[in-house]
Amino acid sequence: MSKHVTEPALAVDVRELLQKPGAHKHVVVRAPLDDLATPVASVPPDRPVTVDAEIESVVEGVLVTGTVSTTALVSCVRCLRQFDQELEVPVRELFALGPGEDEDEGYAVLPDDRLPLDTMARDALVLGFPAFPLHRPDCAGLCPVCGADRNTVDCGHGGSETIDPRWAGLAGLTLPEGFGEPQGGAPMNKEEDDARPQA
Ligand SMILES: [Zn+2]
Ligand SMILES: [Zn+2]
Repeated sequence: MSKHVTEPALAVDVRELLQKPGAHKHVVVRAPLDDLATPVASVPPDRPVTVDAEIESVVEGVLVTGTVSTTALVSCVRCLRQFDQELEVPVRELFALGPGEDEDEGYAVLPDDRLPLDTMARDALVLGFPAFPLHRPDCAGLCPVCGADRNTVDCGHGGSETIDPRWAGLAGLTLPEGFGEPQGGAPMNKEEDDARPQA
């Protein structure tokens, strides 16, 4: 999943740490990242991503331990409503010194001694996106008959039982308000109303 990025948005100079195992520093870097979207969640370009991490020099390279955080825009899987969700994903990744034999085989320190954090941050956030987001735990979802948002509208199509698509059209027919209830007192002007139209 690591893709080559020419100019990382999230980069940290680690020159003073290299070749000094045990040396470390704390960094907080913040920048927007592009290409951060899945079918259920995304991080729009106007929302920065923050990497807050301790960077430690080790024999094999540089160890990054901390969190990647942002505010994702998430779609409720039941009602499709979009809502914000704070994400804070823990990370602990080794950046090797110099490119490995296979470039896709993990993270590496750049030749100019900078640590490119974009791919790590992107990978962490995508894994941290909720798999089954609900805008609230008891979201009532959309009506399978008419598509109404059941959180805001009572369309009268009953519970969540599955409706045979062959009867979906009939289910869409609604009875008038008060149908079947006893008529309380109002006289029925049956005779007059039934007057036949003049031929
Ligand atoms: Zn919902
Ligand atoms: Zn409905």
